[in-house]
Amino acid sequence: MAAAASPLTRKDFVSTQDVRWCPGCGDYSVLANVQRVMPEFVDKRENVVFISGIGCSSRFPYYMNTYGFHTIHGRAPSFATGIKASRPELSVWVVTGDGDGLSIGGNHLLHTIRRNLDIQILLFNNKIYGLTKGQYSPTSDPGTRTKSSPEGSIDHPIDPISFALGAGATFVARTIDVDATHMQQTLRRAHAHKGTAFVEILQNCPVFNDLVWDDVQDRKTRPSSSISLVHGEPLVYGTPGNLRGIGMQGGDPTVIELEDDDDPIEKGVVVHDEFLESTAYAFALATLCRPDFPLPVGVLRQTEKACYEDMLESQIQDAIDTHGPGDLEKLLHSGDTWQVPG
Ligand code: SF4
Repeated sequence: MAAAASPLTRKDFVSTQDVRWCPGCGDYSVLANVQRVMPEFVDKRENVVFISGIGCSSRFPYYMNTYGFHTIHGRAPSFATGIKASRPELSVWVVTGDGDGLSIGGNHLLHTIRRNLDIQILLFNNKIYGLTKGQYSPTSDPGTRTKSSPEGSIDHPIDPISFALGAGATFVARTIDVDATHMQQTLRRAHAHKGTAFVEILQNCPVFNDLVWDDVQDRKTRPSSSISLVHGEPLVYGTPGNLRGIGMQGGDPTVIELEDDDDPIEKGVVVHDEFLESTAYAFALATLCRPDFPLPVGVLRQTEKACYEDMLESQIQDAIDTHGPGDLEKLLHSGDTWQVPG
């Protein structure tokens, strides 16, 4: 599907629909970056499908000049499964949000991830239900006051990265709506991966949950509040004069204070490895959260596993080789059948 010299440009992926997100919404940035990288991935728009459920982010397919399905709440992963299984040559993208993907569609997301279809899943996490005007979502912080939690949310939130790792995702990454360069790099990595690529995008909802990711979105505070994951590089964050690293003690992350001229590896800072077969390290990274730790941004884990659509195709071919081509009419009239008199 990758095109060496695509005849398409970003503008070819911009639809004629008016974009109806609130001014300042982080969704605009995600849309612009997806449209920008798409010509690198395909040379025909008709080879791309964007599939969404319900929510603000789920308006995404309207704004992409490709095939698209705006489906029912939480079910985008199931539609994507059907499309990829029957048309494996297509580039299939799921766009969902924290409510759509992790509450209403949690079950569907889990089973799509574990099957490892060769698709991309973009989960916009703004920690709120925006479309229905501001109720707490499965990722809302404890104590979040909304119309549905006036005294503060008492739910224990779910972490999308841990969810994806737990479901057996073969590619798990996190990026930020305002960091165009990082998002484009992450989208390229996700597209290049063979298997389900799960990308959490930290997205600001300025209307109902403004500044929820403020410290990692702000360029000034980002170096200290997030850690950029680069394979083969030590987990160092902060700014000169205030550098720190992440070590592991008994499997638990710890913060290591560093001088500017320290060798971080000698000081015990862990070197990031995306390709570990065990999920233990990636899970440990996923537990890093502010204010005690920086938020990891980048690819946490990628590994290889057979894709569902490939195994399905192979299984069908084996059955044809063994039993010959199927006959639907014969199948329908096999076994016990009877006629209902008119
Ligand atoms: Fe964006 Fe929030 Fe408006 Fe929805 S409600 S479009 S998430 S700003």
